[in-house]
Amino acid sequence: MDYLPIFLDIRAARVLVVGGGEVAARKVGLLQGAGARVVVVSPELGPALTAAKAHGTITHIARPFTVADVAGARIVIAATNHASTNKRVYQAATAARVPVNVVDHPALCTFIMPSIIDRSPVLVAVSSGGTSPVLARLLRARLESLVASTYGALAAFMARRRPEVRQKITSAAHRRRFWERVLQGPAAELLLAGQEAAAADAFERELAEPAGSGVGLVSLVGAGPGDPDLLTLRALRLMQEADVVVHDRLVAAPILALCRREAQRIDVGKDAGHHAVPQGEINRLLVELGASGRRVVRLKGGDPFVFGRGGEEIDALVEAGIPFQVVPGITAALGCAAYGHLPLTHRDYAQSCVFVTGHCRKDPLTLNWQALAQPRQTLVFYMGVAALPGISRELMAHGLPGTTPAALIERGTTPTQRVLTGTLATLPGIVAEEAIEPPTLIVIGEVVRLHERWTRRADEALTSDLRAAG
Ligand code: SAH
Repeated sequence: MDYLPIFLDIRAARVLVVGGGEVAARKVGLLQGAGARVVVVSPELGPALTAAKAHGTITHIARPFTVADVAGARIVIAATNHASTNKRVYQAATAARVPVNVVDHPALCTFIMPSIIDRSPVLVAVSSGGTSPVLARLLRARLESLVASTYGALAAFMARRRPEVRQKITSAAHRRRFWERVLQGPAAELLLAGQEAAAADAFERELAEPAGSGVGLVSLVGAGPGDPDLLTLRALRLMQEADVVVHDRLVAAPILALCRREAQRIDVGKDAGHHAVPQGEINRLLVELGASGRRVVRLKGGDPFVFGRGGEEIDALVEAGIPFQVVPGITAALGCAAYGHLPLTHRDYAQSCVFVTGHCRKDPLTLNWQALAQPRQTLVFYMGVAALPGISRELMAHGLPGTTPAALIERGTTPTQRVLTGTLATLPGIVAEEAIEPPTLIVIGEVVRLHERWTRRADEALTSDLRAAG
């Protein structure tokens, strides 16, 4: 170790910053965040520090640095453009035995400042020991995504409960085990999800039964349309902490591969007879797993609340008193639109967009065709391939021209995505010719012209590139 990492208490301490520019202002902000009284020595101030001075949050000494300025300072930071001034600050501070940092000059520092992830009171500090600030910043960015933004609230909650826990659980070893369980259990997870009241309930249950209350948490997690890059940070964290993952057939293998390796996986997309597990049985399974005290992730394709029957699963959990949370995912329409270069709205073509299911309980399709067959509106059909001939016929019968552009997006956002375009009238024929398979989304509306235009441009560019190269 070239440096000893420490966290310094500078609340109400006098801290000296030499320099008045942007870099100095950033350091001042940081020091003030830690409660310091900041004195800035600089003949001039940039806009940020001028504003701070006007607000009375800094003391400004408007002249060049003198050796006497370091007296009484807890730490000194130099951020000027003058090498000679920076050097003099360093010499004065070291002579007075005051810790000093000259920004971006490790050789003129008796301490260095790490990159930080601030979830106060939780702090994570990262340093490359001055060798590569960029590397430290990149590492910080990675850690940012791992440490949920609500960790501060979690730590504050635990701090409030400590006295009570100390009183109730007298053995230190038992207390440690209790905290380990709480921090990996439903109370902590509910707090991270912003559900304070439910978290407090879960905490009380744990405290009332220190041997373990046995009630877990079920998270309904949207896995997105296929590309693992489209997972949310929370989805990824929950998948990596799960004890059990209950997933649909629609959830792609590369996404399942990101779940904790030891987690039990239950595929409810098909059973031994290759049939999907009935919804009632899935509901019962989730209740049973939740009641067993495990961290359950119910992983669903796209978003849990878009044609995902998430509502029915939550009904069952509420009925049984099992804590739950819902983590949104990118629904197929949004993923396919983005990866298929097919905007769902565009001010020249469509002012509204409707998501419709092509899989109805009753047959023939009992949809409000009049409302769907409107101009300047994009229609997105989920689960619509089988019913496409009927959909196409009904929309035309209710006034949508057969020439309306339409697209099929098969396995959207995955490496094998296919986008096929035609018209409302020709689409059913394309399905048969191209042997389209699920999952496929149908998009109907003028916006499909944009996809065609952009694709043609890209093709032309490629052809002319090839010609130029050849
Ligand atoms: N909850 C999911 C939808 C479930 S319904 C979501 O929000 O996306 C299943 C239907 O979604 C499929 O029949 C198909 O129409 C569509 N779908 C899901 N993933 C898809 C993908 N990667 N590409 C194209 N369509 C997809």
